Amino acid sequence: MSSSKEIPYKIYLEEEEMPRQYYNVRADMKTKPAPLLNPGNLKPMTAEELEAVFCKELVKQELNNEDRYIDIPEEIRSFYRMYRPSPLVRAYCLEEKLDTPAHIYYKFEGSNTSGSHKLNSAIAQAYYAKKQGLKGVTTETGAGQWGTALSMACAYLDLACDVYMVKVSYEQKPFRRDVMRIYGATVTPSPSTTTAVGRKILEEHPGTTGSLGCAISEAVEAAVSREGYRYVLGSVLNQVLLHQSIIGQETKTALEKYDIKPDVIIGCCGGGSNFGGLISPFMGEKIRGEKDLRIIGAEPASCPSLTRGKYAYDFCDTGKVCPLAKMYTLGSGFIPSPNHAGGLRYHGMSSIVSHLYDDGYIEARTYEQTEVFEAAVAFAKVEGILPAPESSHAIRAAVDEAMRCKETGEDKNIIMGLTGTGYFDMMAYGKYIEGSMGDYIPTDAELEESFASLPKID
Ligand SMILES: *Cc1c(COP(=O)(O)O)cnc(C)c1O
Repeated sequence: MSSSKEIPYKIYLEEEEMPRQYYNVRADMKTKPAPLLNPGNLKPMTAEELEAVFCKELVKQELNNEDRYIDIPEEIRSFYRMYRPSPLVRAYCLEEKLDTPAHIYYKFEGSNTSGSHKLNSAIAQAYYAKKQGLKGVTTETGAGQWGTALSMACAYLDLACDVYMVKVSYEQKPFRRDVMRIYGATVTPSPSTTTAVGRKILEEHPGTTGSLGCAISEAVEAAVSREGYRYVLGSVLNQVLLHQSIIGQETKTALEKYDIKPDVIIGCCGGGSNFGGLISPFMGEKIRGEKDLRIIGAEPASCPSLTRGKYAYDFCDTGKVCPLAKMYTLGSGFIPSPNHAGGLRYHGMSSIVSHLYDDGYIEARTYEQTEVFEAAVAFAKVEGILPAPESSHAIRAAVDEAMRCKETGEDKNIIMGLTGTGYFDMMAYGKYIEGSMGDYIPTDAELEESFASLPKID
C-alpha cells in the first residue's frame, strides 16, 4: 500500500485516449439476450417494424449481436470532447473517513450541465436522428435527467425535442423542466390530453401522478403519429448500453494506466444503462475467461426489479404500445410507493443486464432510501460532490464493501460509477435532512398483484 499515494486523486485521460469505438458486449455473450417481440404476433421485431418507431441506424445497433466494436462518428466524438474523458477519482478522503484498507475509485459522469451520464447516449441518438434527416425526436423523462440531456443534444444539432415528463416530477422539479425549456424543448406533463393513450390513462386513473411507463406510451404515440419524428429512449435498450460503454472503456484505460486491478465493480441500476456501460468491457473479459472480478448492481428496495422481479417477457410501457422485452420486471403497471425519492423507478431492467444476471455473472443488492441518503451525505461531506440519489445506491454498496474489507483487512480495489450530481434533488435531500423521509418495501402480495399483469408468453 506504500505505493498507493502515487495514484493521483484524479486519473485524467488525454483526449486522444477517448474511445474511438463503442464496445458491444453482446458479441462476447455466449448466449444472446432475448429479442424484442412484436406484441401483435409475438414474433421477434424486424428492423422494418422497429424503424417505424426508432431511427434507422439505432435499429441496426439495437439488433447487432455480432460486431464487437462499432465506430463512434467523429461528430459525436467532437461533442464528447466538451466534457470527456471523464475523470476516475480515487476516493482517498472517503477511504480515510471509513478507515478502510480498501481502495475506492469512482468514475464521475456528473460534470456536464445535464448532470449525468445520459448525455453520452443523448448525443449519439440525436446525431443519428439528424443524419436521417428527421425534424425531431420525442421522449419521456422521469426525474428529468434524460430529458435535460436530450434537450442539450437536440439544441446542439438543431432538432426539435418533445419531452413527456412524469407529472409528479414536472410539478416537483420545475428547475429541471426549465433547463429543458432553456435548451428549446417542449415539455408536457404526463399523462396528458395531447395523446389518445394519455387520455385513456387519465380516464381510467383520474388524478394519477404518472409513471415512466405511462410517459413512454405517450412519447411513442407522439412520434409515430407525426411525419419526421422518431422516439428515443434514455435507458434499457441495447443501443443505450452500447453508447454508455464509453464509461467502462475509459475506466478500464484509466485503471490500466496505473496498473490497478479491479476486484469489485459497482453501479446503480434503474433501466441498466450506466451499469451495463460501466461493466461491459470488464464483463467481456470475464466471459472470455481472461480475468475475473465481482460485479454488483445496486437497486432501491422500493423498486427491486433484479432481486425480486420475474425474468419474463413484459411490456416496456404502461399503455402497452411498445415491443415486449424479456427482462427482470415487476410488471409494467408497477409504480413505486409515493414516498420513494431515490430515482431508479423503472419497472424493468435492460435485457442484456437481465440475461447476464440470470447467467450468474452479476450480483444484485437492494437498499432502502434512508440508508442511501445517509451514504450520499457522508460522501458529499468528504468528497465534495453532492451525488444524485440514483448514484448514491452505488455509493452505499461501495461503502458496505469497503467496511467488509475493514473486517477482513483486505485492500481490495472497489470501482463504482458515480453517475451524476444531485443539485436538482433538493426536495428529497430536504426530507432526508429534516428526518421526514421514510422507507417502503413492497410486500410479496403487492408484487404478486403486479405480476398478474404480465403477458402469458414463454
Ligand atoms: C437515469 C439515471 C440513472 C439510472 O439509469 P440507468 O439507465 O440505470 O443508468 C442513474 N443515475 C443517474 C444520475 C441518472 O440520471
